[in-house]
Amino acid sequence: MAKLIDGKKISQEIKDEVKEKVAKLKEEGIRISLAVIQVGNNPASTVYVGNKKKACAYVGIQSLAYELPGETTEEELLQLIRELNEKEEVNGILVQLPLPEQIDEDKVIRTIDPKKDVDGFHPQSVGALSIGQKGFVSCTPAGIIQLLKRSDILMDGKECVIVGRSNIVGKPMALLLLRENATVTVCHSHTTDLKAVTRRADILIVAIGKAKMVDADYIKEGAVVIDVGMNRDENGKLCGDVDFESVQEKASAITPVPGGVGPMTIAMLMNNCVESARMKEK
Ligand code: NDP
Repeated sequence: MAKLIDGKKISQEIKDEVKEKVAKLKEEGIRISLAVIQVGNNPASTVYVGNKKKACAYVGIQSLAYELPGETTEEELLQLIRELNEKEEVNGILVQLPLPEQIDEDKVIRTIDPKKDVDGFHPQSVGALSIGQKGFVSCTPAGIIQLLKRSDILMDGKECVIVGRSNIVGKPMALLLLRENATVTVCHSHTTDLKAVTRRADILIVAIGKAKMVDADYIKEGAVVIDVGMNRDENGKLCGDVDFESVQEKASAITPVPGGVGPMTIAMLMNNCVESARMKEK
């Protein structure tokens, strides 16, 4: 039976560390604030934004909420971002995705000042990551690295397989694992014989968005399995991309959904906000 990798516990540790860093910065007269922009009222986005505000309150970061109507134009949103870029007191800018269809997400991401890009989605942040320079790293993959490190799971020299190649999870995940000296393979919807590839993995990271698709058949005995997926099953219950019940029999360690990768994403966002304030001071 696999050991459970407890994202709730590990994310709490990180938030407590961040809280201490925030308190120390406050003693030096440095306050941190994060602007959180939501356009429209997508219910899932409202939950995510609410959780981010709660985390900010917990660690002592001020959150500035911008709740814009669904009809907001692209130019109105870009103008708000430009204003926030200029504001000294704002350290981080987060635009909750997805955006309504009249707004080009790419343009929005590119408008955020890279120094305030706490989500790590700006091309400059992505470029820095790919050539091993300092910069903000996308919070979900950064959180996965912390989950592995803090669970004493060695990445160096290991065969790591990632299923999914999105800009926010799969691709930055591959770059971070390379940085940790893993041997990395990235799979996607065109991969022929997916099972043959995933069965090679010492560490398998699944980020596809398909409820419980990856079952025990995809897993090598003793593998570590990280489930990024957040889906609803046939009963409307939150579940991952991995079939937890069957995979836990074969894996040596596994993340649950909920309580695995999800809470880590927010903890790493808080950490990025502190980094942003530190970088500004330097
Ligand atoms: P995307 O939809 O952007 O990407 C999905 C990826 O999976 C694509 O690369 C796609 O391949 C690949 N894929 C889809 N179907 C298959 C298949 N049958 N076999 C192999 N590969 C496949 O998703 P995201 O990366 O944004 O998110 C993935 C999941 O993670 C979602 O459930 C999302 O909700 C969750 N998530 C969770 C977060 C958290 O904090 N826990 C944060 C971000 C995401 P191709 O490129 O060829 O289309």
